[in-house]
Amino acid sequence: AIPLVVAISTAVSAKNGLLVRNRTAFENSRKITTVIFDKTGTLTKGEFGVTRFKSTQDGMSDDELLQVAASIENNSEHPIAAGIVNKSKSGNLELDEAENFKNITGKGIQASVNGKEYKIVSPGMLSELGIDQPEDAFKSDDETVVFVVSEDKLLGYIALADEIREDSFEAIKTLKNRGIKVLMATGDNEKVARAVSETLGLDDYYAEVLPEDKQQIIKDLQEKGEFVAMTGDGVNDAPALAQANVGIAVGSGTDVAAETADILLVNSNPKDISNLILFGTATYKKMM
Ligand code: ADP
Ligand code: MG
Repeated sequence: AIPLVVAISTAVSAKNGLLVRNRTAFENSRKITTVIFDKTGTLTKGEFGVTRFKSTQDGMSDDELLQVAASIENNSEHPIAAGIVNKSKSGNLELDEAENFKNITGKGIQASVNGKEYKIVSPGMLSELGIDQPEDAFKSDDETVVFVVSEDKLLGYIALADEIREDSFEAIKTLKNRGIKVLMATGDNEKVARAVSETLGLDDYYAEVLPEDKQQIIKDLQEKGEFVAMTGDGVNDAPALAQANVGIAVGSGTDVAAETADILLVNSNPKDISNLILFGTATYKKMM
């Protein structure tokens, strides 16, 4: 039978944006020593706006670059995609159909438009393709920049910016006051990761992380004796969520992540995680 205090606490949690799928993990939340947050959509709002876009290709206008990028991004669920598609709509650009759309996990997307193949990729993937970054691509540490490539040739870049959630500041303060280490793992570039980490006063961060690397990051921390909670939103986060002592899927996340997680963070709000730890501790004390 489920102890009454636990049943009540999980119900209280649900009202506060937490859905407990695994009761043991909920009770274990009092043991958490390290929390690893993902960045986009959890510590930040996950609402990217395009700040700059530029064609670097002779004969292609900036709008033509945005148009083809938006035609491809129209098939992606990444918050970057929404930013690019919205920008094309505000410029009244007509989108084309994209074919053979594919995610390049943690690195970008690819598809063909009007018979021509394109990739839209991270700075890391761009250098993997052996292409140099244009000098003016990065102007601010707050910008996420993606590159449009066709046939291993750079066509241009699009810079976007997201904002830190107000609630993140308090959540991190609460966790740190309880002596819990707060880390961030993101697929985004090093500069953005460092800027967010410094602004929020995080203990450390991992940038340009591939989903499959997250599980190893957690294992290493566990070997050092840490009891790790991790948030994740993607299909590819499932192994990491399973590895974590407390795996937390964020609300906007995919079903696969949700199925593997111990706890669902319905509003993707980091404050609900500091509350989870407070609830978990209070519940444990009542059970003693
Ligand atoms: P995160 O959730 O931390 O942003 P992801 O693994 O989802 O990490 O993405 C990592 C990087 O891959 C992004 O920062 C971006 O550079 C690139 N990327 C992913 N999806 C897209 C997309 N739809 N369009 C352009 N770039 C993308
Ligand atoms: Mg992601």
